Amino acid sequence: MLESSPLVPWEADAKTWCFTYVGPQAEGLLGFPVAAWYDGDFWAQRIHPDDRDMALETCERLCRERSSYQFEYRMVRADGSIVWICDVVSVETRDGEPDVLRGFLIDVSDRRESEERLQLMADALPAAIAYVDKDQRYQFVNQAYEDWFGIPTAEVVGQTLEEFLGQEMYRSLGPQVERVLSGERIKYRSHLRGPDGVRRHFDASFVPHQERSGEVLGYFSLVLDTTSQVEAEEEARHTRDQIAHVSRVATMGELATSMAHELNQPLSAIVSNAQAATRFLAAENPDPEEARDALADIAEDAKRAGGVIRRMRGLLSGGKPQRTALDLNGLVEGVAALMHSDAVSRQITVTLDLADDLPALTCDPIQVQQVVINLMMNGCEAMSHENTTHRELTIQTERADAHLRISVVDTGHGLEPETEKEIFEPFVTTKDGGMGMGLSISRSIVEAHGGRMWATPHSERGAAFHVELPLHPPRHDE
Ligand code: ADP
Repeated sequence: MLESSPLVPWEADAKTWCFTYVGPQAEGLLGFPVAAWYDGDFWAQRIHPDDRDMALETCERLCRERSSYQFEYRMVRADGSIVWICDVVSVETRDGEPDVLRGFLIDVSDRRESEERLQLMADALPAAIAYVDKDQRYQFVNQAYEDWFGIPTAEVVGQTLEEFLGQEMYRSLGPQVERVLSGERIKYRSHLRGPDGVRRHFDASFVPHQERSGEVLGYFSLVLDTTSQVEAEEEARHTRDQIAHVSRVATMGELATSMAHELNQPLSAIVSNAQAATRFLAAENPDPEEARDALADIAEDAKRAGGVIRRMRGLLSGGKPQRTALDLNGLVEGVAALMHSDAVSRQITVTLDLADDLPALTCDPIQVQQVVINLMMNGCEAMSHENTTHRELTIQTERADAHLRISVVDTGHGLEPETEKEIFEPFVTTKDGGMGMGLSISRSIVEAHGGRMWATPHSERGAAFHVELPLHPPRHDE
């Protein structure tokens, strides 16, 4: 066999495309003797049928445009095997007409094979992978582009981002592309409407392809479709909100007696103050001062009653979670007021140990209120056993860096160390008629706010539950 070189020089007639010269390495390339190459349309005949039209058209165009070009196609060897050729062609003219074609055939099978392997690998990945050059032209894309956009990968390669994505999508992507082409690694999360009109969520990473000198030649992009994951999360959040609502309504039922009591107090006070005012005015020498004081008390009590009703309505409301600024101490005081008569009837002393000057907490006040109520009710229930003599419930608030912490400490029957984690799981209860949902709902509310919740057994007896909420929680709907 002749020396096999990956490079075969050749010359051909520009009209007949018949070889007039081929280097001796030609035999090693295809396994045909050099003499066979001079046969009429040997070249066209040996091109793989799938690539023949493309190769002949390219050659025609070269002659027409009298340009130099390099293109790749497959040829079939004498033994039927395939070789990938890169053909580097230039056209020589005489009197303005194409006269001689001159070039090299280069065996690029190894490179094509590794490229094919890479393509196969990339196509098998459940992500859209692309290489985009610094002129923002796709140089490589995997099968996901065809699956997502319905355009064959071969047609995507060579298009600019703007041509392929369209004006609108390109505009939203533009700033990230500029950043990666200036050498920055980028990760971002976004959503867009696909060609089928369906909203798709994705996570994208762009990595610059940089020379040692720092020059950016292009970038690699990896885009993961996270639509089903995001939808499942939304669904789970929705379900959690519904369960939280149902649980609030259940809590309302448990608190009804206490609430009725809380309402009764201001209402009775209103009635007696109204009677007093009537008396003052009906007296022989009516005392407008006293009547005014009684009326002011009536207004105060009416406000208190209004507050109780507002909190009840809040607990009953469903609706989407809110994010507003909340005075945490105010909320704790409100819940303590709501549960006051419940605590009194169980002979429990409620102590509030609230830090001064707490900043406002961005959160859903109704949900946070639900957490505090759950913890306080659990604390009260843990102290309800007749053997419990010292019954004290302490609620502390404090600031911990960028978080606010609420601790609810009781002197009840306490927690077994091994159940410390378990009790946050749904349906875990040690109470007759307990649902075992309170702590699990509370924890999911806290985590949805970007916070955390844990329990610690407290000194000799009792338990402490802690909730830490970030001052500014992450938003989930962005
Ligand atoms: P439920 O109150 O319906 O049982 P929870 O999820 O609120 O549901 O509480 C789960 C379990 O955790 C309770 O049954 C109890 O065993 C335990 N637990 C909760 N709070 C306390 C507490 N303050 N002291 C001791 N055990 C508690």
